[in-house]
Amino acid sequence: MTDFEVIDPATGEVIETVALASAAETDAAVERAARAFPAWRAVAPGDRARLLRRFAERIDAHLDELAALEVRNAGHPVGQARWEAGNLRDVLHYYAAAPERLTGLQIPAPGGLNVTFAEPLGVVGVIVPWNFPMPVMGWGLAPALAAGNTVIVKPAELTPLTALRVGELALDAGLPPDAVQVLPGAGPIAGRRLADHPGVRKIVFTGSTRVGTELMAACAPTVKRLTLELGGKSPNIVFADADLERAAATAPYAVFENAGQDCCARSRILVQRAVYDRFLELLEPAVRAVAVGDPADEGTEVGPLISAAHLARVSAFVPDGAPIAFQGTAPSGPGFWFPPTVLTPDVPQAHPAWHEEVFGPVVTVVPFDDDADAVRIANDTPYGLSGSIWTRDIGRALRTARAVEAGNLSVNSHASVRYWTPFGGFKRSGLGRELGPDALDAFTETKNVFISEE
Ligand code: NAD
Repeated sequence: MTDFEVIDPATGEVIETVALASAAETDAAVERAARAFPAWRAVAPGDRARLLRRFAERIDAHLDELAALEVRNAGHPVGQARWEAGNLRDVLHYYAAAPERLTGLQIPAPGGLNVTFAEPLGVVGVIVPWNFPMPVMGWGLAPALAAGNTVIVKPAELTPLTALRVGELALDAGLPPDAVQVLPGAGPIAGRRLADHPGVRKIVFTGSTRVGTELMAACAPTVKRLTLELGGKSPNIVFADADLERAAATAPYAVFENAGQDCCARSRILVQRAVYDRFLELLEPAVRAVAVGDPADEGTEVGPLISAAHLARVSAFVPDGAPIAFQGTAPSGPGFWFPPTVLTPDVPQAHPAWHEEVFGPVVTVVPFDDDADAVRIANDTPYGLSGSIWTRDIGRALRTARAVEAGNLSVNSHASVRYWTPFGGFKRSGLGRELGPDALDAFTETKNVFISEE
């Protein structure tokens, strides 16, 4: 084990030291999870459902405590942190309904009957990033458990505190020991070992496209099942016929929320040329009004970036002489602060912030000419996660939604992630889908059994 200092990003101060698992400790966790699997899969569906509901109730009872932990560990504004803990609770409740509905098919066949079973996979590894520690953990954990798998959650090095507490609450709720294990560890050591280990049957990974690509190769030798939720460079397309006031008032939150550290951030705003200047006029006061500050204050909308290293990375996208149209405010002093920033480069393609995922509060605004031009620009990226379309013309909204290559689009809204609906990316934004009614398909194997009439 090595120790890792967990830092409060709003102050830069060390708040706790957490031991990181070695490869051998990861192997031991996999063995424990494998031993716990037969008993967990054998728990009757109604009892598994009850345990998941109790787990959700434990999260609810500790919602403020979990939110406060995330305020300190990730610098998330307290209102947002409460929503995140609530999302974990709700996702557990949603998938608590699944064990009792996990039915198969019966298919008449010559000479007999086929029946199908949705069998759990075994040990599932859930590798979580630092940007939304509780929700992302829940999107893998809840359906995996509901399907009868045992789960090892590997939180990001920077944000292990809520995951560790959630692991304790799982035990409190009565889940058997080792049905859920939380294993803080370094990505290239513990995370990689989960992907390499022959005893792990599935990896759910949310994080960067670079690491996701590596993990895809690491999973190949064992033909390990894999879900990838990766990066994004999502467009916010504003047509001239849109409700411009609403489009401009909401655009800052679609990219600056969570300090832009959101895979669904609408970090490219495409505005039809006829209303481009007017849109920028409306956007400026909205950006300046974003409340960036102490995440413990109820009125704060945006907190700090996660780390000093990430602040340096984000700052590099806005060097001296960058084409800044306007900026919001951010505290100075300790902590990892960066103000909401709007760029309007003359040649967007020449600017890294236009095509790379910044994962910070930086947005680029460009004009487009017509519908075809908007779709062409929107799709001119290797990513395809989310996007928004603003127009009053429903036909245009539909045509544009069908043409944009992305997994999650919203019309006259920026909603991306709702646990009732499937979530995931096209192209290099990912592989597979999470959430929604079909999530258990990603955590089960279909077994077909033929029963002869003879
Ligand atoms: P990251 O890829 O560096 O790390 C993510 C997780 O993978 C962490 O737990 C880390 O420890 C682990 N990891 C790192 N190297 C590893 C390796 N070699 N083998 C196994 N595991 C390894 O990403 P990050 O910086 O924590 O998160 C930011 C990225 O996550 C962004 O690109 C963002 O777009 C993406 N993201 C995507 C979604 C989505 O749903 N599509 C959601 C949130 C974040």
